[in-house]
Amino acid sequence: MSSMNIPQSSLPRIVIIGGGFGGIALAKKLSKKEVQVVLLDKHNYHTFQPLLYQVSTGGLEPDSIAYPIRKVLQGYPHFYFRLAEVFQVITDNRKVETNIGSIAYDYLVVATGSKTNFFGNKNIEENGMAMKTVPQSLNLRSLILENFEQALLTDDLHERDALMNFVIVGGGPTGVELAGALAEIKKGILPKDYPDLDTRRAQINLVQGGDRILPAMSEIASSKAERFLEKLGVNVWKNVRVTDYDGKHVATDQDLVFESATLVWAAGVQAAGIKGLDAKELLCRGNRLKVNRYNQVEGFEEIFAIGDIAHMETEAFPNGHPMMAQPAIQQGEKLGENLIRLIENKPLKAFVYRDKGNMATVGRNKAVCDLPRFKFQGVFAWFVWMFVHLYFLIGFRNRVVVFINWVYNYIRFDREARLIIRPFKKQDKVSKEAETVT
Ligand SMILES: Cc1cc2nc3c(=O)[nH]c(=O)nc-3n(C[C@H](O)[C@H](O)[C@H](O)COP(=O)(O)OP(=O)(O)OC[C@H]3O[C@@H](n4cnc5c(N)ncnc54)[C@H](O)[C@@H]3O)c2cc1C
Repeated sequence: MSSMNIPQSSLPRIVIIGGGFGGIALAKKLSKKEVQVVLLDKHNYHTFQPLLYQVSTGGLEPDSIAYPIRKVLQGYPHFYFRLAEVFQVITDNRKVETNIGSIAYDYLVVATGSKTNFFGNKNIEENGMAMKTVPQSLNLRSLILENFEQALLTDDLHERDALMNFVIVGGGPTGVELAGALAEIKKGILPKDYPDLDTRRAQINLVQGGDRILPAMSEIASSKAERFLEKLGVNVWKNVRVTDYDGKHVATDQDLVFESATLVWAAGVQAAGIKGLDAKELLCRGNRLKVNRYNQVEGFEEIFAIGDIAHMETEAFPNGHPMMAQPAIQQGEKLGENLIRLIENKPLKAFVYRDKGNMATVGRNKAVCDLPRFKFQGVFAWFVWMFVHLYFLIGFRNRVVVFINWVYNYIRFDREARLIIRPFKKQDKVSKEAETVT
């Protein structure tokens, strides 16, 4: 037995760090193979990140976008899950060190995803909100609601406006979707919930450093999304970079300062790297691990990286694949095949990404879709967006719950999960940083 209570076996041991999109796809691929698989994750659940913004805005309960990793692995022979945070990989000894002990590997797969990148701006990191995990989304949900409760109490108009002034930094899908959802809350819910507060004064600002929102999508998708947002009353600021935030004032590189009690930082991610695999020569842009076409980390026969953490240069993707669910899933599946081929001494097959398209929703009946053959926007795009998200959610129960919630919200113009279950106090940094504790 190892220190994690995992039996020694004659089967080759594959240790996977991370039960996200990539790690789970890989585990499924290996489910019936003659290998011992140890999956380590610091959460005991898989997070469906594309719907985090709906948790932050009370549209969905957090439980419906998370799924127990142990349930995914149920019935898989030779599989072991351990709730563990990995601190370090000791490549010379082929060992992984975690908060619950260490474990040796024959093959190691790093699938740790990414984390928010504040580009070294400590003030923004300390005072702003990130939305990368379920606990962070719950913090944001609480903060938004607490701001309105507080706005109701203050006589100071300045303070009241700042409490109802939201600044979302980053015009990618996360920023756009969050801005749209907040605008809908302002329109449909706030006037009824707070009849004694002038919620018309609430402002939703989406600040984008570049000259268009959704820069990874087509021009038409960007301009339509911008029009949708403006229709919803969102202030879209382009070519503006947020430079500082002290918890009250949002400074920018333009002649523009926002007074706001809530800044959401959705302007960048970087790979969630691990000590021991962080030598400069292993890393690329965004601290991603340089891998070859088989997802092998350069210089190591037995170490692989998939998903957001992996930087694979191909002709079609000279800067690596987009940090999205599909590349992670597809790399996980391909690596599952390749690991077996490697163990059986067969030649490996190069990974080729099948781009299935890109989409973002802006709000009720409003979405933009760039599929490989078609680009469309509006109601149909919105239905496609919903279908695709339901399809990729893990777990039948989650699909049913999300579907029912969406139908209910659509018919009732409502978002009933607007609950302050776990109060968030800005000054209480502990609750914000202890993101592994829900
Ligand atoms: C708000 C938001 C919205 C998004 N929307 C979309 C979208 O609409 N479409 C899309 O395609 N993509 C979207 N993405 C991106 C997508 O979620 C990621 O690209 C995808 O999750 C990457 O998969 P992964 O397997 O590489 O990592 P992840 O799915 O992030 O999984 C990483 C796992 O590793 C675990 N982990 C990390 N470090 C450690 C450690 N040291 N020890 C133990 N465990 C660890 C984490 O707990 C996590 O479970 C969105 C992301 C966010 C944050």
